Amino acid sequence: MGQVTVRLDDLPLRDDLRGKKPYGAPQAPLPIALNVNENTHPVPQEVADDILDSIALALRDVNRYPDREFTALREGFADYLGHGLTREQIWAANGSNEVLQHVLQAFAGPGRTAFGFTPTYSMYPLLTRGTGATWIAGERGADFSVDASSAASQVADAAPDVVFLCAPNNPTGTPMGLDVIEAVYDATLGIVVVDEAYQEFAPRDERSALTLLPGRERLVVSRTMSKAFAFAGARVGYLAADPALVDALRLVRLPYHLSSLTQAAAGAALRHAPTMLRMVDEIVDQRDRISATLEALGYVAYESWTNFVLFGGVDNPARTWQELYDRGVLIRDVGIPHHLRVSAGTEQETTAFLDALASIDSAA
Ligand SMILES: *Cc1c(COP(=O)(O)O)cnc(C)c1O
Repeated sequence: MGQVTVRLDDLPLRDDLRGKKPYGAPQAPLPIALNVNENTHPVPQEVADDILDSIALALRDVNRYPDREFTALREGFADYLGHGLTREQIWAANGSNEVLQHVLQAFAGPGRTAFGFTPTYSMYPLLTRGTGATWIAGERGADFSVDASSAASQVADAAPDVVFLCAPNNPTGTPMGLDVIEAVYDATLGIVVVDEAYQEFAPRDERSALTLLPGRERLVVSRTMSKAFAFAGARVGYLAADPALVDALRLVRLPYHLSSLTQAAAGAALRHAPTMLRMVDEIVDQRDRISATLEALGYVAYESWTNFVLFGGVDNPARTWQELYDRGVLIRDVGIPHHLRVSAGTEQETTAFLDALASIDSAA
């Protein structure tokens, strides 16, 4: 019993899923884990206490289905985002991954296409294929930037049903100008999703794509509580868009997809947004320290508006990754030749990474 009796290939799996690999960032119990861009600072105690109280309250009614419209939580997100947004313009789900899946289920699916400029977030193609749609990979410049005219012509040529613009981009950390977003929007009749998972780590005076929403009913701006809010384990993502677009997502979501416990926890965390975001400046300092030190060690660090740094000039990424691993430090080999990616941790974690890297002679 418990033995393997059948292999995946023997099951009547969908043809379009045969040979595909699941999302697979390694989860290894190393002392220093800087591989999936988490916020490595724990939730502050006073917020944790309030979250627990809110969950306890929700637990009394857990025999009932939750508010299917998560009304209070949507109001909380509208308040947090500002820009005059109202709850009718807000959607949320179990991580922004599920939010993006809802967008694809409603606007992509079999016979349709989704597009993104690679290298970009590795979940976009997986989510796209999962809904039965086809992924189209666009291109970036040598420094991983995309300019407005190249972006617009690539999108016009591909004529996709959904475009993903990761801004700032994962895994490169690089920013994307609002002019690029405007140009892409004008170049397509499809849905344009701006994934602002890392927006809180961008320079404070930079405008969010939220400012482009008025008058653009096919534009979606998605966010997550997983990164700046230190809430990855709770699985909460959200988006802002036209109320009609939000209505479309109701057609594909599972009923009661956000549990009452999740709603309670996220709502409480949002009420403490300034405290939850207190660590952002500290993380940005560590990120900039990583970039400066990498350059001093002879690597090439890309401009980052996120909580991580992509660096090039790595002779043999698999070997450097392993040597760091052997020193108790987990970072990410994102599959870009001669590059590795590291998340900014606490000051102590960041120092451990930088010291370990300095002890390895691996710059090309
Ligand atoms: C981490 C990340 C997300 C967040 O996903 P969740 O499902 O909310 O945890 C979304 N988009 C990008 C580009 C990311 O890097």
